[in-house]
Amino acid sequence: MNTASKYDERCEDCGSSSCEAETTWCPSCGLDYHADRLRCPRCGVTPGKYTHVNVYAVTRHYGGPEEGGWWYNAGEPVASIALTEDDDADQVAAAVERKYIDLSEGDIYLVLGGVQIEVHKQYHFAKPWPETRPHYE
Ligand SMILES: [Zn+2]
Ligand SMILES: [Zn+2]
Repeated sequence: MNTASKYDERCEDCGSSSCEAETTWCPSCGLDYHADRLRCPRCGVTPGKYTHVNVYAVTRHYGGPEEGGWWYNAGEPVASIALTEDDDADQVAAAVERKYIDLSEGDIYLVLGGVQIEVHKQYHFAKPWPETRPHYE
């Protein structure tokens, strides 16, 4: 049985409002596309296949005085390793972490602060985060 919502919305892949194809969600660009495709028709990312292992230097920043003061983490790219079809993202991430972990200093959650190295498997080249400075809500 088809759910009504299938007919309420146009398929993001083929544009048809009566498309009944199974769809899958692209973790890179967010497009819902036909699940039988090998990769996202918009950005070319293969689902479940990370494209980059990114290394970030994470520091803690003062957000504002609300509720006695709040803080947030921000990451600056240190390295971005592009994965090939044959790479195992987990293995690359483990090797990269061993290589960069010494750059960590101190503890970002303590008063003296420091830098924490984080390795992320991602679907894009390393980019600073958060994209905009967070605001208190
Ligand atoms: Zn469709
Ligand atoms: Zn995509």
